[in-house]
Order: sequence, then structure tokens, then C-alpha cells
Amino acid sequence: MNNPDNNTLPRILFLFSDTGGGHRSAAEAIIEAIHIQYGDHFIIQMVDIFKEYAPLPLNYMPELYPKMVKVPSAWGLGYRATNSHRRARILTGSAYPYVRRSIRNLVRDNPCDVIVSVHPLAAAPILRTLKNKKHPPFITVVTDLVTTHALWYHHLTDLCVVPTEIARQRAIIFGMDAEKVRVIGLPVSDRFCVPPGDSTSIKKELGWPVNKPVILLVGGGEGMGPLEKTAIAISEAGLPASLVVITGRNIKLKERLQATNFQIPTFIYGFVKEMPEFMRGADILVTKAGPGTICEALNAGLPMILYSRLPGQEDGNVTYVVNEGAGLWAPTPQEIVAGLSTWLYQPEQRQIAAQACRRIARPQAARQIAQIIIEQLGHSKTITPDER
Ligand code: UDP
Repeated sequence: MNNPDNNTLPRILFLFSDTGGGHRSAAEAIIEAIHIQYGDHFIIQMVDIFKEYAPLPLNYMPELYPKMVKVPSAWGLGYRATNSHRRARILTGSAYPYVRRSIRNLVRDNPCDVIVSVHPLAAAPILRTLKNKKHPPFITVVTDLVTTHALWYHHLTDLCVVPTEIARQRAIIFGMDAEKVRVIGLPVSDRFCVPPGDSTSIKKELGWPVNKPVILLVGGGEGMGPLEKTAIAISEAGLPASLVVITGRNIKLKERLQATNFQIPTFIYGFVKEMPEFMRGADILVTKAGPGTICEALNAGLPMILYSRLPGQEDGNVTYVVNEGAGLWAPTPQEIVAGLSTWLYQPEQRQIAAQACRRIARPQAARQIAQIIIEQLGHSKTITPDER
């Protein structure tokens, strides 16, 4: 794919972290779109800002993140306590002396012609390090949908791509120049965006029964939320459906579920690479309100039941999906089962929600963001070693 020996190719640096699964998915979707539209004429690097560069204990953030969000009320408190322009600046300003050296190393090790951040914690330290130096354009791609945190928005960002109009308004409230903010959509892989195909043949390929609707149960990249309780409640309701559970990187949960006796045909997976095929083979998605999973389902025309959300961060996602008619909010196993019964016994209701998904999907988002990045390469000023 890349040719690291060829120093003449433009370099694009993606900053992300595996805190959840959504940041990586967004970066990979944009990279895929760059290759589809512009070929292999770039050197593209993805850097996990925590794992690869942060000092102890921050370098363990991808591992710590699932534990931190396990207590949603504490997470919500932290989210609200830091969510203002001033408080976000105080937070990043006080952390800067601690991370300064790591960030300098990151910049030194990864010369590039454009920087694309898909993580809210990258902009402040990087832009502070690059301040007053000639540096490549810095683009932020916001991967939260509605209730976006102040940390996403840094006034020195050259361009900020947001998924919704509400996220644009928040960018301005949090101090960004309006002309730097573009509403494009959340980037998802092209594989989610193909026209609805023959779900029976996909079910066959995946080894799922073809004579029953498939309920796909997902808890983000880390198998978060009450996934186990939900799977058992669905199974015990004896619904006329099969159940597919994806536990993501939560290996212990996968093992527990594999040892469970389910009442309906049930298939358990760990982290899957074939999410687009899973969504196109499924008939109903039951998921926590992760922005990546929601937007993938919108593009796949897969109606969804949202069973949990991270307070603050994902609150707006629920309102967005429900108000647009693309899904239901069902925070208890009983409500999930009731929602599933409605959609299984009245498939026309499910079809209405599937149409709403397609109406609000933005299948061109990854390609449009790819185009913006390539345009920015035109006015790039590559950092040379003596300028750092
Ligand atoms: N995902 C995946 N395989 C899995 C589980 C999740 O590829 O087994 C992807 C999923 O398709 C989505 C991302 O992980 O792109 C999860 O992102 P989301 O924003 O929904 O939630 P997060 O994990 O970031 O909280």
C-alpha cells in the first residue's frame, strides 16, 4: 500500500487512539476513501497518540478506557466538569508540561504534509507544540455526533469537519471561527454504503439461519453496556429471530456468553472485521449509542434499538436517532424486548425505520473528507527537521 522508501510522496498523518473503536474506524474509513479516489500516491501513517507516545500511565489509556466508562455516572460527571471552552483549556494547559516531551517526539518522528486528528485530545497539545512554527495544516474530524465535547474544538485548528449542524453550532460556541467548520458527516467505510443487497445470501455466507430475522447485538469496540443481560433477555423472550452477539475486545464476556445456554439460535463473536457484512445480513441492530456504530447502521439501512449511552457524550446520539425515526430508545431489557416484538411482528414498522436510516445517512462523508485532505496538501508546508 505505502512505499516508505519513496520520500517524494506526500505524507498524511492520522492521530487517533483505540479508546473505544470509533476513532480507528473513522480514520480507516477516510484512508480507504483516499485510496479509492486518489490511488496509492501517499504515505499514510496512523499514530495512536496514547499508546505510542503518551508518558505513563497515559500510555495505558486504551486499556483503561473500558474500565473508566464502566461507571457511567462518574464518566458523565467528568464530561460535564470539563465541558466548557475555559475548563477544557485549563485541563489541557495543566497537562501540557507533563506531555510536552512526548508530543515533541511525536512531531519529530512523523514528518508530514497534513495532520488529521480523529481524537478530541490530540489538537491542544499538538497545536501548542507547533505554535509559531511553520507547520502542516491541522484538520480535526469530529467523531462524536451531537453532544460534542469542548475538547474537540481548538481555535488554532485549520479546518474542523463535523457530522451534524448541532456539532457545528457547538464548535462556534466553543470558540472556533465559523468559516473553519464544515458539516460533512461521520466517515464510515464504503462497505456499509453499498445499495441494500440480498441479505439472504449474506446470512448464508455467515452461516446464519436464512428463514428468520437476525438481531445483531453490539456494545461498541469494547463490548460495553449490559450486553450479557440484554442477550439473555432477548433469548428468554422466545422471539421469532436469531441472535448474533459481538463482544468486541471484551474476551471475558465472549467466553461467558459461549458457555450460556440460549433459547434461540445464537452466534457469539469477539472483535469482527466484517461489521459491514454483519450489518447488511442483519435485520435489527441492538446497540449502545456509539456514534460510529450508529452511522454505520444508518448507511446500511439497519434500524436500531439503543439500550445504553455514555452520559454527556452520547446523550445527543439517542435524541438524534429517535427524533429522526431511525431507532428506539430502550434502556431496560423489558423495553428492548418490547421494541423487538413490535419490529418482528410488524415488519412494516421496521421498514419505516430502515427508510429513515437511509434518509439521514451521509454515504459520501468519507470521500468528501478525503477530498478536503487532499486539497489541503496543496497548501501544505512540510516541517523540516530544523524548524521543529
Ligand atoms: N467494531 C468493529 N468490530 C467489532 C466491534 C466494533 O469493527 O467487533 C467497530 C464498529 O463497527 C464501530 C466501532 O468499532 O466502527 C465502534 O465505534 P462506536 O463509536 O460505535 O463506539 P466506541 O467503541 O468508540 O465507544
